[in-house]
Amino acid sequence: MEMRGSQIPFASNKRVTRMRVGEPNGCIRIVSSPICFFVLILLSLFCIGSDAFALGTQGQSSNRLQQTPVENSGQFPLQEANKLKPPIRLISQDQKSAFDGNRSFGYLADICKIGPRPSASKGMAKQKKYIQAHFEAIGGQFFQQEFIAKSPYSGKNVKLHNLLIRWHPERTRRILICCHHDTRPFADADKRNPRAKFIGANDGGSGVALLCELGHHMKSLNGEFGVDFVFFDGEEFVIQRPRDRMFLGSTFFAEQYSRGVPNWRYECAVLVDMVADKDLQLPLEGNSLHFARGLTEEIWDVAREIGVREFVPEEFKFIRDDHLPLNEIAKIPTCDIIDFNFPNPTAGNIYWHTREDKLENCSAESLGKVGAVVLAWLQKKQRTAK
Ligand SMILES: [Zn+2]
Repeated sequence: MEMRGSQIPFASNKRVTRMRVGEPNGCIRIVSSPICFFVLILLSLFCIGSDAFALGTQGQSSNRLQQTPVENSGQFPLQEANKLKPPIRLISQDQKSAFDGNRSFGYLADICKIGPRPSASKGMAKQKKYIQAHFEAIGGQFFQQEFIAKSPYSGKNVKLHNLLIRWHPERTRRILICCHHDTRPFADADKRNPRAKFIGANDGGSGVALLCELGHHMKSLNGEFGVDFVFFDGEEFVIQRPRDRMFLGSTFFAEQYSRGVPNWRYECAVLVDMVADKDLQLPLEGNSLHFARGLTEEIWDVAREIGVREFVPEEFKFIRDDHLPLNEIAKIPTCDIIDFNFPNPTAGNIYWHTREDKLENCSAESLGKVGAVVLAWLQKKQRTAK
């Protein structure tokens, strides 16, 4: 994400087309192979109307879906991926009602151990395996949405992947909870070494860790709404601004959603980003208020109700993040929960995109607080559904 003094209109469709996110024919390459064509026929036979825009999926948990091996792009050597061990976190099957900040932090530690996870890297491939194994073990349906983007290194096309976890797929009214799962290629705001490796514990890791824990509470979430988790790729597949575009995955996702005719709809979405800062402070973000004021106020109200004071009901600056494509292209009212002063407002956002974005500057308590608010808000949505 990045910050501007005012709300900047999102990229035009023309620019989107150039990067092949949103190109009518090039959007999902897998469709062009005969095997995949066959899989698509299968999918349509099984009436997965709800997956109309999640083409190129890879699902194991649903018996209705055949495993669809996505062709190896060359970016992620298969033997390398197969050597990976399953997640080393103990996966609890319990449905404890309270969001567990410590367990969430454990996921964050695992993710940081992988190392940097920029788009189309081995680190990202490992993290993808981790996410898939974790959510399938706790009963979520896993899908991936593949798209093509230009590598900022080589200028060549590479495959990127949004990952989607679906809970209660039969529910047609749905809520989206999302984050980005890529990390910036370099710690480019690091004054001493802007080419240093970037771990992205807070910027990238925290959203994934929060959703890993939140997943434990989804099967028991009774009510009208089904929930989808989406992990966006290419949020910051950037080595040179403004040449390299941001929000590739969320743009692609939003375009596919707005083009498809699913038999369900997202009523709203919540994005979490940079939510593990030890010194947590979450003011209201400007674009969230602009596009989704009701939703944003609802969430900060829930925080007040359950006593999480770090959700400060004061308006902050406008931040450009994955919520823009969701609001502007998909027309899904989307709120961004983000602490964009890492470590704190006094010091400023000086850890952002530097080597200081590491596990030691994050905390279980912060993850626990944000997770508790998101979960309490979801529960309230179910109770008060009209
Ligand atoms: Zn970032």
